[in-house]
Amino acid sequence: MFKRLWISLFALLLPISSCIPCAASAYDAHPKLVVILVIDQFREDYLERYRSDFKGNGFNMFLDHGAYFPDCYYDYANLVTAAGHSAIATGAYTDGNGIASNEWWDLARNTQRPITSVEDPRYSIVGLPATGQNPAREGASPRNLLATTIGDEVRLATKGESKLFGISLKDRAAILTAGHTANGAFWIDPQTGAFVSSTYYMPSLPDWATTFNQSDRAAQARTAAGVSASASFFSTVGPTDAAIQYELDFAQALIQGENLGGGNVTDVLTISISSTDILGHRVGPDSPDQQQLVDQLDGNLDQFFTWLDHNVPGGLQNVWLVLTADHGVAPVPATAQQLGIPAATIPMKPLIAALNKNMNDRFSPGQDLEYLLPDQDLPYIALNVPTFERAGINELEGERAIQNSIPAAIASLDPSANVPDDSVQPSAKRVAPTPRVFRTFTRLQLASLQPGLPPTEFGRLMAHSYSANGGWYVMLVPDAYQVPGSGKGATHFSPYSYDRHVPLGFYGSVFTAETFRGRVQPVDIAATLAALLGVNQPSASIGHILTQAIHPEVEVKPRSESLRRKKHEDTSRPRRAATPATKTAPPATSRPSRKTSAPAAATPSATQSAPASPGQRP
Ligand SMILES: [Zn+2]
Repeated sequence: MFKRLWISLFALLLPISSCIPCAASAYDAHPKLVVILVIDQFREDYLERYRSDFKGNGFNMFLDHGAYFPDCYYDYANLVTAAGHSAIATGAYTDGNGIASNEWWDLARNTQRPITSVEDPRYSIVGLPATGQNPAREGASPRNLLATTIGDEVRLATKGESKLFGISLKDRAAILTAGHTANGAFWIDPQTGAFVSSTYYMPSLPDWATTFNQSDRAAQARTAAGVSASASFFSTVGPTDAAIQYELDFAQALIQGENLGGGNVTDVLTISISSTDILGHRVGPDSPDQQQLVDQLDGNLDQFFTWLDHNVPGGLQNVWLVLTADHGVAPVPATAQQLGIPAATIPMKPLIAALNKNMNDRFSPGQDLEYLLPDQDLPYIALNVPTFERAGINELEGERAIQNSIPAAIASLDPSANVPDDSVQPSAKRVAPTPRVFRTFTRLQLASLQPGLPPTEFGRLMAHSYSANGGWYVMLVPDAYQVPGSGKGATHFSPYSYDRHVPLGFYGSVFTAETFRGRVQPVDIAATLAALLGVNQPSASIGHILTQAIHPEVEVKPRSESLRRKKHEDTSRPRRAATPATKTAPPATSRPSRKTSAPAAATPSATQSAPASPGQRP
């Protein structure tokens, strides 16, 4: 009662200009533009480890001037690029949006190889360089994405007046993050670096994109990365900051070319920075090379945000920025072993061969049938359904047979793959870690069509990883820090914290400048943006609205009141010009620090930013 009275008095006393955060609404372009930044393979602890390196307003835009959530963890168990970008965009996990993997076997569509999450032969690629050596390639679309995205919902709510675009070096990260209704998604031709799209979106590239591709930007990036004109752009320029700058230059060309932020409704742009993932797989999260790239990315973002401030109408006061990542990463197994972690490598081909042998011994003695499909990766092990069906084995029996065989198959793997490095103490004195199975779940168990999922948080996390795609499968969860592959480099795929921990930050006039401790999830992004913009949450959204991140003046204003006032203003007098909410969103060039800009009414749970931890630096 007293609280409500206080709020009413507070509202009466507020001058109109300080109510500006209340005006957040997709329908009248508050903000003009939402930019969702996804950093591919970017564990949140990078921002803690390297914080003292950050200069200007790159990551500090979120850490010092935005609502920042350091304890953001995905709540599912298949932490890969396509699934992560889909979760961010749809506010749902795999069981809601359908995207489980980067690629999977779908024998109805292709019996020769796994299909990718976005390939679509009904379309073709547009924008490929006319070298005469490029046959028209199969196109791509979000056909496998079973839910709408936050961008889709803004487009639906504005009857298509909003513009929606996605950018990445990777097709899946551009397509799945933007959504079904995107005006365009752009990614690169891996060889040349030229930005391309698909006829799903457009018959040909827009002029501004053609102009970009015909400029010397790709050549400049090659020069900056020190690679030759004939090398694959993706694999040689890709892991460098030259590729980050190249992507952000393309984003600037898109914003100008499409006049994003120049309309009467809110536009949405998703940008996935791929370079951190391309390098991270090679060197791992603890490499000085990865630290250097993170620091360079900080500078790239600072420049990009400054550019937005100067080029979007009204500057950054009319832009909301979101920062997150699609997944983290495990340390390189040998690096973790040196410290005593029972990290191990699981070679997939021998594992699949051992499982096939077990199935033949049991169901077709003396034969060498293929009960499992080739080219497998964890966490899903795909069964070759026709082989089981010819043997008269149904899904329940087949998946259980594989599930029961996995521990013995793992135990049969060559232990020499995980012999510790004798040159490093104390590993030479320790017994080599061996791969072990933590849990396995059949597709029927993940779908709760068979018992097996525990009624715990872990069980829910696994249920979020259910996918109807790909026929029969068994999900394999090895012990923590144990990864598929050859032992070279690093990877991500598991339900463990290092794969699930990502940053989550908001910047914009409606967000408070505080750090919030407490578990949140990347699926909360879509729910929070939908609430603030006044649109529906995406169709499968399970996220929560992060109300603590929303400026108190936005929270205390009932929506109906602000709408009534707006209607009254529209009919009785000219609209009052939007006055900047200078308390939370000063221009980037004169932005005060968090300590001076944080609202006085900070909640008890809010803490100041975590101090840098230089002692943790590798
Ligand atoms: Zn990724």
